[in-house]
Amino acid sequence: MAKGSKREYVWMECTECGDKNYRTEVSVVAGAPKIELKKFCKRDRKRTVHKVRRK
Ligand SMILES: [Zn+2]
Repeated sequence: MAKGSKREYVWMECTECGDKNYRTEVSVVAGAPKIELKKFCKRDRKRTVHKVRRK
């Protein structure tokens, strides 16, 4: 709906090796998003915590 709402693409960065493995769209209306997700990291070959990395 709300066109032009504050959304931007960010990278989900592995906290163990620093690889940026996933790209996602987040809402930044309330400021910098703080999102942590367990995602599979190809380099570590296991699920690790990924954090949002804004440009
Ligand atoms: Zn990793």
